[in-house]
Amino acid sequence: MDSPDVIVIGGGTGGYSTALRAAALGLEVVLVERDKVGGTCLHRGCIPSKAMLHAAELVDGIAEARERWGVKATLDAVDWSALVATRDDIVARNHRGVQAHLARAGVRVLAGHARLTGPRSVRVTDLGGRTGHHGEPGVHELSARRGLVLATGSRPRTLPGLEPDGRRVVTSDDALFAPGLPASVLVLGGGAIGVEYASFHRSLGAEVTLVEAADRIVPLEDAEVGRHLARGLKKRGIDVRAGARLLDAEVLTNGMRARVRGARGETVTVETERLLVAIGRAPVTDGLDLAAAGLATDARGFVAPADWDRLETAVPGIHVVGDLLPPPSPGLAHASFAEGLLVAETLAGLPSAPVDYAAVPRVTYSSPQTAAVGLSEAEARARGYEVEANSMPLTAVAKGMVHGQGGMVKVVTEAGGRVLGVHLVGPHVSEMIAENQLVVGWDAEPSDVARHIHPHPTLSEAVGEVFLTLAGRGLHQQ
Ligand SMILES: Cc1cc2nc3c(=O)[nH]c(=O)nc-3n(C[C@H](O)[C@H](O)[C@H](O)COP(=O)(O)OP(=O)(O)OC[C@H]3O[C@@H](n4cnc5c(N)ncnc54)[C@H](O)[C@@H]3O)c2cc1C
Repeated sequence: MDSPDVIVIGGGTGGYSTALRAAALGLEVVLVERDKVGGTCLHRGCIPSKAMLHAAELVDGIAEARERWGVKATLDAVDWSALVATRDDIVARNHRGVQAHLARAGVRVLAGHARLTGPRSVRVTDLGGRTGHHGEPGVHELSARRGLVLATGSRPRTLPGLEPDGRRVVTSDDALFAPGLPASVLVLGGGAIGVEYASFHRSLGAEVTLVEAADRIVPLEDAEVGRHLARGLKKRGIDVRAGARLLDAEVLTNGMRARVRGARGETVTVETERLLVAIGRAPVTDGLDLAAAGLATDARGFVAPADWDRLETAVPGIHVVGDLLPPPSPGLAHASFAEGLLVAETLAGLPSAPVDYAAVPRVTYSSPQTAAVGLSEAEARARGYEVEANSMPLTAVAKGMVHGQGGMVKVVTEAGGRVLGVHLVGPHVSEMIAENQLVVGWDAEPSDVARHIHPHPTLSEAVGEVFLTLAGRGLHQQ
């Protein structure tokens, strides 16, 4: 039996970051992956979806160039296979990059399905080369000397009675790998994934209906952000229906017919080529045999740590990272990197600060984008803070006018005290959230930020201006 220091099950962002850091700290690491290292984020999530969104932005730019800037440009057509080829090339290069990093770090990658056989032991069954992954084939019995890390991630959540068939009813995975763009799509779920898919389908030419059961889209974000985003999407011709529910859906020969109950109780029938179910992600533990290690999932299928500071389960030496963790872990790749670092350092015997979940940035890469960190105004009030908030439209600064896409900055503070949350919506705000993450993470007050100069003319000037106002020194706002 092989006995490495650490066995990591799952080679997504959570698993491979744990493996890389543990190996860098001198531990002998085996990483087991039954599909491809890089996991959801690289192959079916963050990267391919952002590639689609980038192409979508270019398409939108042609209309803007023509309509606002007198550029005599027209869009001939979108060549789906060329677009997909570029996207897949980016994914393939990143995949080779992750494999190379793991090899250089000395991580041994086993290709196959891992099943627990005891508190620290694992059987890896070769999948017979079916999955096109790279790693050592064969059946392996392993036992970890220091620790076992569960990083088996998540898959799209589905609705009973509306099982994806990959053609009419699709998940975010299917929609990426479909042979072409549908003429119309009903997106069920107005969270980040649903909004991003609605956004790029619309830009690339599809008729889009976006249905969200909560009273606003991106319901986890500040209410003002949700309103701005809905306005921006509607302006682009997306039929945004919040507070709405799918009643039923019928498969037709050439599409779907869905009945939706709207916010005012009205029933609307939507004929659509595809129905994209984007109602969240479900943790993956199939065939893992948690019970063999003395573990069980919680009621929703997650594996909860007993010690969140070390992300360690009730069974000593078994840790969890990534989408397999329940909230407050947010199911985001960058959070899983932080979790991987923490677990690897813990296993190496180093002191490591717990993950600060309150300061994890959240981004929706649609057009317009949203980006936020910390508490919304409503959350801050619900926690009993005396709240002071200030917001400003992005078009109040010159660069915002140049972009001409609206948007806003909102900062939520404890009255006379530290910054509790920053909320952005508009163009390029995904690139503007990092400084605000430091502001929230470092418990800064508006005056701490206000003395730092934001470059002119930029969109981030609006952030600087809101902090100046909250510090009582507003130039353009009183
Ligand atoms: C469409 C979409 C867009 C997204 N966009 C973003 C974004 O922009 N930014 C962001 O931060 N996050 C984004 N996410 C979320 C992000 O992809 C996940 O948070 C991240 O991939 C979680 O990583 P993980 O390592 O926990 O799990 P995964 O990436 O799911 O990896 C788990 C791995 O474990 C393997 N595995 C499972 N069981 C076994 C077993 N028994 N034996 C061996 N191997 C096994 C699987 O094959 C898989 O490769 C997006 C997700 C989706 C679906």
